Amino acid sequence: MAFDAPPQAAPQWNLSPEEIITKTKEIIEKTRSLEDKVAALENPTFENAIAIMAQNDQSGERIASVLVFYQNVSISKEHRDASAESDRLLSEFSVESSMREDVFKKVHQVYELKPQLEPESTRLLEKTDLDYRRAGLGLNKEDQEKLKSLKVRLSNLSIQFSQRLGEDTGGVFLTKEQLVGLPDDVLNNLATKEEDGKTLYKVTFKYTDIIPAMSYCKLEETRKCLFTGNYSKVPENVNVLHEAIIIRRDIAKLLGYKTWADFVLEEKMAKNTTTVINLLDDLRDALTPTGTKEMARLLKFKKEDVKNGNAKDGDVLYVWDYQYYDRLLLESEYQVDQQLIAEYFPMGRTVVGMLRVFETIFSLKFIEITDSSRSIANNFLFGDQTLRIFLGGCILIFFREMENTNTPQTLIWGPDILIGTAIECTHVLRLFVTSPNRKLFSEAVNNLISTPEKPSLLKHQEVVTLFHETGHAIHDIVSVTKYGRFHGLEVPHDFIEAPSQMLENWCWNKKVLQELSHHYERGEPLKEELIDKLVASKNVDIGLSTLRQIFYGMFDMKIHNLSGDEVADTTKLYNTLRQQISLVENGNVSTPGEASFGHMMGGYDAGYYGYLYSQRISADMFYTKFKADPMNTIVGTEYRDKILVPGGSREIIDNLKSFLGREPNDTAFREDLGISQMTEGTCEGKTEAIEILD
Ligand SMILES: [Zn+2]
Repeated sequence: MAFDAPPQAAPQWNLSPEEIITKTKEIIEKTRSLEDKVAALENPTFENAIAIMAQNDQSGERIASVLVFYQNVSISKEHRDASAESDRLLSEFSVESSMREDVFKKVHQVYELKPQLEPESTRLLEKTDLDYRRAGLGLNKEDQEKLKSLKVRLSNLSIQFSQRLGEDTGGVFLTKEQLVGLPDDVLNNLATKEEDGKTLYKVTFKYTDIIPAMSYCKLEETRKCLFTGNYSKVPENVNVLHEAIIIRRDIAKLLGYKTWADFVLEEKMAKNTTTVINLLDDLRDALTPTGTKEMARLLKFKKEDVKNGNAKDGDVLYVWDYQYYDRLLLESEYQVDQQLIAEYFPMGRTVVGMLRVFETIFSLKFIEITDSSRSIANNFLFGDQTLRIFLGGCILIFFREMENTNTPQTLIWGPDILIGTAIECTHVLRLFVTSPNRKLFSEAVNNLISTPEKPSLLKHQEVVTLFHETGHAIHDIVSVTKYGRFHGLEVPHDFIEAPSQMLENWCWNKKVLQELSHHYERGEPLKEELIDKLVASKNVDIGLSTLRQIFYGMFDMKIHNLSGDEVADTTKLYNTLRQQISLVENGNVSTPGEASFGHMMGGYDAGYYGYLYSQRISADMFYTKFKADPMNTIVGTEYRDKILVPGGSREIIDNLKSFLGREPNDTAFREDLGISQMTEGTCEGKTEAIEILD
């Protein structure tokens, strides 16, 4: 059945900072009074206690997601501050709410009754009861109070950590000579100042500056200086992280878990610390020989640089060398010129092309909202379609640099009522590629709007990121569950990346790349030989780059696996592990890199391994079902229905078994990493054990 407008309006962006706070307080009050009612029930049932609170959370979440979104995108500091305050109030309230013994009693009463319900409701009941127990209900009053104050403190520390990181404006001033090698377009975008008759360029620690600088600056001294500055920014965060680790350890102990990692992993696919450590150790063993070979190859380039005076020590690859020689290797041995390839990916056209790919795979339709008063970037063109079923909408905001953040942001919204039955006919999405409020996002959009001469051009890696991030939006939008609690991205964190990681594979497929690419001047697709070179380069330095991921995962597990009174010197641990695992040398420079390791305070604590864990799953799904024919709509629809639609409403492992037709395994992941020929325990060069805290 066709309809003209979606059943639910898109979020508006016209709130004042005061309104952001008022609305936050309204959500909190409404929830608090509902909880009071539940606590007063004489005969609690699933419907009048659990379901009603779940529905309330869902509607509150819908409003709150807009309120807390301002902090990531608004150009007005007042809005960002109000939004951060809203975030703080909401998380503080969620601590209070999760600690309500009176509500827990009613929930537990229903749980004990074991009512006959359909599976998703049973799951909701069990998870709600478990949530309360994990929150400390069941502890004595004194311990509960202790727990409550620890959690409030932890939540404030997280906000403090990321705010400091986001608002960092540091950088290094350097001369043009010191920056030799940096492409002109990057150099010309740097802020400058005059000093002693010389022009100094400011390389900030934002990705837009620091990544090209580390990849292109020829002089080792410059790279070392930039690296040291970047990894020493916000040193105050060291203490914040330190305090957080101790608080987490104490919370775990109060709740009866040995360590914070044990507490966190209980609800993950991996389930326990041993599984995670084994995964990281096995991968490290298998990849160290690969990494060592890759290192030798990079050092050949460095030796040349020693001859021409650009570098000092040709026998050692330092942390500040890796990106530079990795790029050099790609350009000289694989002739992958990323700047040239970018000319084939003008932003607007690439986004449209990507959406077409998703339409085919997942049997979807995207409609651009064409209300002219809202339209900012006219380079997005979508044909009008007959709507069949509305699933949801999303605003995709792409920007390369903002005052306070620099990652792509998406906001997803969906129908008020989540449909509980399987959908048979064509799925339809409404996609907001433009912002409804010109003012709010004007700065973000400036980076996106093309000048008449040259559109925004995406590097291949940015195309990959685009597929990945939009993949998260698709996951959330196509999901159909009865309760918001299990909708879309409400899955264990060690699975959440898998669907997006899988979509990255499309960006390495020859046919897809030919369809997607379009030279911004000449209109032609990428030449076959250029694609071949690009694809051949996919796994260059895969050993070293995966070892770096293993390092992050191991650092995370180490700091969150404390059980006794030992307190880690996190800076020492960070630097030692990096050198031991990722193989690149620190060169006697110790920098507090953990102070800007946002994941540790941004919800990935005892969870960083999840990237590798989900990559395993993503490789398994892609190789098993899609590799032979990535544009197969039948397989894509099966994937959507079995993996994306159920979200977290069932055990993920069951969804996977249903899709793969067997238990998931490692074969594809190892093949992807080029280590399939190795069998466990037989690889040469067994790595030394890392015993730092134990
Ligand atoms: Zn992701």
